[in-house]
Amino acid sequence: LSDKLQSTLQKLKGKGKLSEKDIDLAMKEVKMSLLEADVNYKVVKTFVNNVKERALGSEVMESLTPGQQVVKIVHDELVKTMGQQGESKLKFNPNDITYFMMCGLQGAGKTTATGKLARKLKKDGKKPLLVACDIYRPAAIKQLEVVGESVGVPVFQMGDKTSPVTIAKEATKYAMKHGIDVVIIDTAGRLHIDESLMDELVQIKQTVKPEEILLLLDAMTGQDAVKVAETFNQYLDITGVILTKVDGDARGGAALSIRNVVEKPIKFLSVGEKMDQLEIFYPDRMASRILGMGDVLSIIEKAQDAFDEKQAIEMQKKLKKQDFNLDDFLQQLQQMKNMGPLEDLLGMIPGIGQNKKLKDLKINEKELVFTEAIIQSMTKKERANPNIINGSRRKRIAAGSGTSVQRVNQLLKQYDDMKKMMKKFSAMEKTMGKKKGLG
Ligand code: GDP
Ligand code: MG
Repeated sequence: LSDKLQSTLQKLKGKGKLSEKDIDLAMKEVKMSLLEADVNYKVVKTFVNNVKERALGSEVMESLTPGQQVVKIVHDELVKTMGQQGESKLKFNPNDITYFMMCGLQGAGKTTATGKLARKLKKDGKKPLLVACDIYRPAAIKQLEVVGESVGVPVFQMGDKTSPVTIAKEATKYAMKHGIDVVIIDTAGRLHIDESLMDELVQIKQTVKPEEILLLLDAMTGQDAVKVAETFNQYLDITGVILTKVDGDARGGAALSIRNVVEKPIKFLSVGEKMDQLEIFYPDRMASRILGMGDVLSIIEKAQDAFDEKQAIEMQKKLKKQDFNLDDFLQQLQQMKNMGPLEDLLGMIPGIGQNKKLKDLKINEKELVFTEAIIQSMTKKERANPNIINGSRRKRIAAGSGTSVQRVNQLLKQYDDMKKMMKKFSAMEKTMGKKKGLG
């Protein structure tokens, strides 16, 4: 979806003045790419009509940069299609234990997201409890226990012989006794929707009266996800959607359809199997991502999540003062290891995703060992001021670290690249901050 839309809009951007024909043509292409991305037909029709109407209006035709205006309109309308600002916020019970119910088809990613959500809540200072109500899928309870342990959150379970409704009730007692403030219920799924599952979910709902009923939908299933959402919503009156496996879905069609068809907000995106791969859903950021304008804010959030906050602030100060040295570089590389594949991150930065030189700046564990050895073979002075590392110093460092002059050169080059990238990054952060409204 992104590639197609981007090339269509790129063509428009280049034009000085736009005729009605230009816009018609562009809208046809936009329509095609949305349909190909498996966006619901009705949604596409409304979307394209809205864009067209505005594009033919005076705000575009009389502007000096009509192409750019159209891009902005497409962006605006994408945002509108995907939701409203602030609606992804979770609801909590201010006076009592809060309940979240996770539901969806088998394999949608409920158990995984249960762990991710717990991790997030814990980071926000809550005291969550996970409840194993999937008593059907073999090893489902064990899976939840593993997930709970990996994020340091307790799991309540009663084996697979007790009914899920009873388990939910008992979990409440446990929660009161242990000072739990948020209970997340991991429910069972089926391969297809069936009555008995829906009955069970309705009963759990009536028992715990959850603040949030979150439906997990696999983004890769496109239109099917929309149908699933409609049915679950009929039975349960869900409060929101978590779109999963967005990492594998380059098409982005589901996000565009669901909000419109079901009229319930998307609250989170699950973008991988690891516990930190859960992002709050922001319509404006998703629109920017689809249009290839990059999603700087999400990267910064991801970085903040992985980085020690104090260190991150230190690093920012250093960047501003321009004294980012080799020790910082090493620290940065070590932290980036926690952020997942660098390519993913770079892909989100406008103008950098395509930069081959930076793409080569891979952080793998083996490289990191060499990097560490090299930097540790430098004197304090050299680390603080890499400029003084001349030829003979390079030879000495190579020998000391058991590497080669070539490797030392390579590292110093990477350090330079990183410094440049980070400068670009903080400059971008500033401009993004200024035009917040636009996303
Ligand atoms: P459940 O049956 O709904 O509880 O689904 P699970 O949480 O057990 O997930 C099913 C499979 O999908 C597991 O192999 C997960 O690791 C995987 N999975 C879950 N969420 C994501 C995601 O966001 N991205 C990717 N790539 N895989 C995911
Ligand atoms: Mg499960």
